[in-house]
Amino acid sequence: MMSRPLMFAANWKMNVAPGEARTFIERFLAVDKPRAGRTVAFFPPAVSLEATATLLRGREHCIVGAQNVSWEPKGAFTGETSVALARGAGAAAALIGHSERRHVYGETDEEISKKVRAVLDGGLMAMLCVGEKLLERERGETEAVVTRQLRVGLAGVASNADIVVAYEPVWAIGTGRNATPSDAAVVHTAIRGVLADLGFSRDTRVLYGGSVSAANVAALLAEPEIDGVLVGGASLDPDGWAGICGTA
Ligand code: PEP
Repeated sequence: MMSRPLMFAANWKMNVAPGEARTFIERFLAVDKPRAGRTVAFFPPAVSLEATATLLRGREHCIVGAQNVSWEPKGAFTGETSVALARGAGAAAALIGHSERRHVYGETDEEISKKVRAVLDGGLMAMLCVGEKLLERERGETEAVVTRQLRVGLAGVASNADIVVAYEPVWAIGTGRNATPSDAAVVHTAIRGVLADLGFSRDTRVLYGGSVSAANVAALLAEPEIDGVLVGGASLDPDGWAGICGTA
């Protein structure tokens, strides 16, 4: 089976101020041992985008992205960040549809779809997050939920667009309870089927997220359908994060 280059994505959520980003990145770069073909992506809060991107300039294996963007291009949208503003601050990517955006802020699949298209139209890579809630898993609805999230989220998106999918079961995010590698692989295979149906290439990466740690990352990456990880809590320590990114 063909293997895709791995991606390690750090979602800092509402943590890491610009000054802290400097300390973090300096330490990360001091201990990081880049491995050929791997990409490390950082998703800082909007106010720390520029500091993070500036510190990583020239590091070919690292990219920086926004955690969320507006689908509107500009104007009277207090508190929002457009794709162009994020790009101007150094973003090369944006996380769209994170479970906290969906379930804390009530973003719908349709809104997420508009954001994905705005991100791609603005020339950034879109990392679309999908995943079921615990009740949905218990009801056996996992595949139906992620299929709907993908079909609506990617509606109108060209099949050669620059996307990455992150499968993040909601019950595994920030709970210390990760999906087992084989459970995750089942869903990744289903996701790959939907992507193939939509015409996306087999090169499209599908990451796993949800309580990834130094202790479980190697087993997750041993699954051929898992092309990297999206990490919250365990990405907040530069030494620990560099260790995860260097997983053999
Ligand atoms: C996330 O925020 O995308 C995430 C997976 O968080 P954690 O690693 O803390 O579960």
